[in-house]
Amino acid sequence: MAQEDVFKKIVSHCKEYGFVFPSSEIYDGLAAVYDYGQNGVELKNNIKEYWWKSMVLLHSNIVGIDASIFMHPTVWKASGHVDAFNDPLIDNRDSKKRYRADVLIEDQIAKYDEKIQKEVAKASKKFGEAFDEVKFRETNPRVLEHQQKRDALHARYTQAMQGPDLEGLKQIILDEGIADPISGTKNWTDVRQFNLMFSTEVGSTADGASRIYLRPETAQGIFVNYLNVQKTGRMKLPFGIAQIGKAFRNEIVARQFVFRMREFEQMEMQFFCKPGTEMEWFEYWKQHRMAWHKALGMGNDNYRFHDHEKLAHYANAATDIEFNMPFGFKEVEGIHSRTNYDLSQHEKFSGRQIKYFDPDTNESYTPFDVETSIGVDRMFLSVMCHSYTEEDLGNGSSRVVLRLPEALAPVKCAVLPLVNKDGLPEKAQEIADQLKFHFNTHIEVKDSIGKRYRRQDAIGTPFCVTVDGDTLKDNRVTLRSRDTMEQERVDVSSLRSIIEDRVSITSLLKKLQ
Ligand code: ATP
Repeated sequence: MAQEDVFKKIVSHCKEYGFVFPSSEIYDGLAAVYDYGQNGVELKNNIKEYWWKSMVLLHSNIVGIDASIFMHPTVWKASGHVDAFNDPLIDNRDSKKRYRADVLIEDQIAKYDEKIQKEVAKASKKFGEAFDEVKFRETNPRVLEHQQKRDALHARYTQAMQGPDLEGLKQIILDEGIADPISGTKNWTDVRQFNLMFSTEVGSTADGASRIYLRPETAQGIFVNYLNVQKTGRMKLPFGIAQIGKAFRNEIVARQFVFRMREFEQMEMQFFCKPGTEMEWFEYWKQHRMAWHKALGMGNDNYRFHDHEKLAHYANAATDIEFNMPFGFKEVEGIHSRTNYDLSQHEKFSGRQIKYFDPDTNESYTPFDVETSIGVDRMFLSVMCHSYTEEDLGNGSSRVVLRLPEALAPVKCAVLPLVNKDGLPEKAQEIADQLKFHFNTHIEVKDSIGKRYRRQDAIGTPFCVTVDGDTLKDNRVTLRSRDTMEQERVDVSSLRSIIEDRVSITSLLKKLQ
């Protein structure tokens, strides 16, 4: 099946099984805004719990906060967002569609990379064991030609983005013959800058009203509270502040489901350290964050780092953690060494001293900061994409199963009376009432047992417990595992420990130690 079709199926599965709905759907939805349904919210909460505990519980020098979405407007002047949080946009006059000029060019660079990759794969197949990839890349004329075009384009693009030189960006699009994927034409407007922040007004009278922004990142709430937390928590460097919260960006192109939304959620941690030690911490957090992802068991080959060549003005190192989505490797998390830029800017704009007094050296200085920033929704999407599986069971039957990491599954256990009579529903309820204190347990009585198993598979429930006539006599049930579909007979009293061991967030956290 084409990857595009897989993605479409995942999107409709999310809706059909109560994970994600288009926002205000009865009014035909609102572009790039989504609501999480009864199963989606549980999965999302589990992701957040895993992240929060991995930061705040496992690190004695990291604490959390919950800052407001609205902030003093000068925050965004100081951070540079008012002047520089822009994307270059371009419209196609025929399709009337809007694009990010930088994304069109980056896609073109990726096309050259794909061409090179195809040549390499073809030759590797042809020569087998004897294939020397390095030599092939250095000598094959077709590869060399693509590489040279790719590098020239990349250099031109990097330079144009630095200005930014908007005319230069347009010229690249024209020179490369980039066409609109919808209309197929090259009838482009000029490139314009577009600020991604949403603004609104506070205050009731025209005179008293002032313009404020919906935060485009949660990070600034941490920077403006650095002193509060450091002083009241008596924190010593190095220490971190973690936060989970909503962020808003008026994205130009928002056509990839929850991957790019206008309202989304971030989990960010700013780690403050002594100047000169930031690269050490940058490395530490790179490795630690990658381990967090890999502990979920979604395939080590599905992750890679993408180091930034072009750094934001405030950063001295940056990398993304990318996940292999059905539409290619895409950024899920950013790790940035932000230097002392943000704290210094707030010091300048607020006129307050924002420093750290180091009792070891008797000096005062502005701490450096390493940030880890992950989008909850992108993380959610990577989990759904990895987990969605259509399985052929032989004998003409098949099933759709969400192979979710067990600790993230919305429902951990479904208790199913074999028939809806003879005292079985009551027994099932009694079992569910014991388990519900420890993990999310559902009870389902309607339909055939086969249909109920399929429904639980489709929402990724790791365990089903079936109550039958014998249960009333021997207090034993059938425990069915989602992935293997194997069934075993176990005592009701052992259910909690068997299941809890596998599905708790603690089991994941222990892998990080
Ligand atoms: P991109 O280049 O894809 O626009 P970014 O580099 O601007 O992303 P950051 O500013 O580093 O993203 O934000 C940190 C994280 O927040 C990203 O790794 C991503 O997971 C998430 N994120 C950013 N923008 C969005 C969005 N519009 N919708 C959903 N998640 C987002």
